[in-house]
Amino acid sequence: MTLDIPTLFITLTLGFLLLVAELTVALRAWARDASLRDWTAGGWVMVLGLAISTARGHLPEVPAIVVGNTALFIGSLMFSQAIYRFIHNAQPWRWLRWGLPLCLLFMVLILPWPMPSRVVVVSVLLALGLSPGVVMILRSARQVEHSLIAVGLMLGLAALALLGRALHALSQPEHYAAFNQPSFWQGLSFLLAFLAMQGAGWGFVLSVFERTARRMQEQATHDGLTGCYNRSTGEIMLAHELQRSRRDNGHLAFVLIDLDHFKAINDQFGHRMGDTVLRVFARTVQDRLRHSDVLCRMGGEEFGLILPGTDEAGALRLTDKIRHAVRAVDLRTDQGQPVKLDFSAGVAVAGEAGEGHFSADRLYGRADNAMYEAKHAGRGRTMVAAGR
Ligand code: GH3
Ligand code: MG
Ligand code: MG
Repeated sequence: MTLDIPTLFITLTLGFLLLVAELTVALRAWARDASLRDWTAGGWVMVLGLAISTARGHLPEVPAIVVGNTALFIGSLMFSQAIYRFIHNAQPWRWLRWGLPLCLLFMVLILPWPMPSRVVVVSVLLALGLSPGVVMILRSARQVEHSLIAVGLMLGLAALALLGRALHALSQPEHYAAFNQPSFWQGLSFLLAFLAMQGAGWGFVLSVFERTARRMQEQATHDGLTGCYNRSTGEIMLAHELQRSRRDNGHLAFVLIDLDHFKAINDQFGHRMGDTVLRVFARTVQDRLRHSDVLCRMGGEEFGLILPGTDEAGALRLTDKIRHAVRAVDLRTDQGQPVKLDFSAGVAVAGEAGEGHFSADRLYGRADNAMYEAKHAGRGRTMVAAGR
């Protein structure tokens, strides 16, 4: 059995063309993603390389070989570049400046070589162009989107197919005597490599989708400034933890924290410093919580702490620890003026002996009252909700 090489080339060129045309439309319409833009650009360069290779018999031979192979190699490197930008969200290495002329020169230098040797070199080069992307994905496999792992596998498969092609050309050069020579293995390795690259392209689109979906989910449940849970998520969690503590006959403490004289910080040092204070405060608190504790921003400079399995004494201990840390924060303006932080807090506990359980609303109301008592008593202190 043989595979007809010109038919294969036409099929792969058209397949790649449709993929990148679709990606280009998507980029214009909705997906303003820099890494997808990089990938699409790489796809166009691949299409150029494949188209030139397809038309090789009808073009001047030397430019067709040099430009066609260079385009395929640069396209494969651009896929790696897109992966770099996707993972690191940074401008990738500036390889194009020297990579392009070097590659052109190299292709000219190997022109006099026999066809099978050129196939070996070009196949290995293409595999090398893909490999940085594969390595980057494997190295950060735990942190990246699941869809990107599929991209890594696809590109790895493409690189393996290309290396297989190089080995085959080394061991059986008679199959590679002419560019269009019908041959099963040379056709199959080429087909597999470029189909896997197309698969990687769709996988890359899925990765961008996965990231967008994750961000939207994050925005719906978290506060954008501090990264804490937002109020609506906090309320759902409080109600849930309350149900759980009731079933387990355990405690649940809720602490409402309001920064003292926060408006004065905004007025004196500006809103940007106010925002920094909120972020630093949230981080300071977060660093002192157990995994089961939850911090949420209830609004403005008011935060809620949900502490499962924590009684009044435990909640007071934690609030004291947080107060110590918050007072010790060494925050300064650009001019070096110190910005001092403190807060008033109200603690309400569900499940205390003799007190029974409250609804989430009631627990919140009790913590709120206690917090206002702390404000009236002079701020910078914690009060516990008294009675029912
Ligand atoms: P008190 O000690 O009584 O709590 O006084 P306060 O100044 O902390 O409280 P007040 O309610 O008078 O002011 C809160 C201020 O917080 C007013 C509002 O502009 C500001 N604020 C709310 N949200 C944000 C935010 O996201 N960033 C910044 N910088 N300021 C915010
Ligand atoms: Mg305040
Ligand atoms: Mg307030």
